Formats: sequence, structure tokens, C-alpha cells
Amino acid sequence: VTEPKSLSRRRLLQRLVAIGVPAAAVALARSPQARAAGLPLLSPVAPEAKAVHYVEDASKAKGATAGASCANCGLYQGATGSTQGACQLFPGKDVKAKGWCTSWAPQM
Ligand code: SF4
Repeated sequence: VTEPKSLSRRRLLQRLVAIGVPAAAVALARSPQARAAGLPLLSPVAPEAKAVHYVEDASKAKGATAGASCANCGLYQGATGSTQGACQLFPGKDVKAKGWCTSWAPQM
């Protein structure tokens, strides 16, 4: 006897909840692409970005220390080797790893 997919899926979810797997973890496991996509990118023309002269390419930034970029900034939260990641300065947004802004600080 085969169950309709929605019924067997519901039973699986009920079992996961019963063994204490949080619903959020179930939702994330369901959508690996959503996890990989990260947060929306910060626009360089957004007022908060302009306030700190954020640019997506550090090599074009005026005043940037040679070699400084979001990827080696203490406020960058992206994984090593990532092309973009979260920045503590801009909650809910990703910045480019190659980007830079005037709040750049060395990693500790
Ligand atoms: S604070 Fe650091 S990681 Fe955030 S935008 Fe500025 S340089 Fe990039």
C-alpha cells in the first residue's frame, strides 16, 4: 500500500517534531538552495552604504589600504573563500568579499 506523498511527508515531519528536531531545521533542510543563496546584496547606492563609501570592488575605492577588502575585514562574516557574506555593519544584507568601506577594520 503506498501513501500519497503529502501524507507520508506529513508523517515524516510529525516524527521529526516528536524527536525534537525544530521546525526551522526541517525547513532549512528542505531548501539547500535557499541556504546557499545568502542574504540580499547591499546596494552601493543605498544611503547606509553611501554613508561609509561602500564599493563592491576595493581596487576602485579611494582611500582603501592596499589589500584591504571585506574578505579580510573584522566585521565580515562570510566563509573563507566566499564571494559574498554578511557584514556586522549591515544587518540583513550581504556585501561582496571584494568590497570595501571606510569602516574596514583588521581581523583580530
Ligand atoms: S565593515 Fe568591513 S565587511 Fe563591512 S562593508 Fe565595510 S569593509 Fe566590508
